[in-house]
Amino acid sequence: MLSKLFGKTRQEKHEGLVAYMASIYGPCPACGGSSSDHDVWEFASARPWSPGSHSANLEAAIVRRDWLAAAKIWEFRGNDNAITYSFLRCPQSGSIALLRLESFVELWADDRVTGRWVLAGDDLQAAGQAAQGQWRRVGEQGPRPDV
Ligand SMILES: [Zn+2]
Repeated sequence: MLSKLFGKTRQEKHEGLVAYMASIYGPCPACGGSSSDHDVWEFASARPWSPGSHSANLEAAIVRRDWLAAAKIWEFRGNDNAITYSFLRCPQSGSIALLRLESFVELWADDRVTGRWVLAGDDLQAAGQAAQGQWRRVGEQGPRPDV
């Protein structure tokens, strides 16, 4: 991904990253528009192809809609494939979608979203509470620590 951004100014890199992430996330499941002006929180990640991964615990927490338990699992490493769960907040509708993203270190494999769910009711309320103060704009570099 980063190789596509070489040789550009900081502003071009930022716009390139916003466009890239918006293309990976795809249209907002709530409003159907581009996600480039939406907020996102990447809150959990696992490396299911690596030994000792807590990916089963993460998937179970997601199924239970236990966002806080899920957010305690962060196995992301820049040098390994990962599954990341994110919330995407829609400024038009105020709704929050849950995105499941598979990301790959291989340059020939683009990251791809393999699940999109628009949250409702208690799930939506709990997601909003869990994400409070964590939102950043799509494509903005936030803290995404390696473990
Ligand atoms: Zn939207």
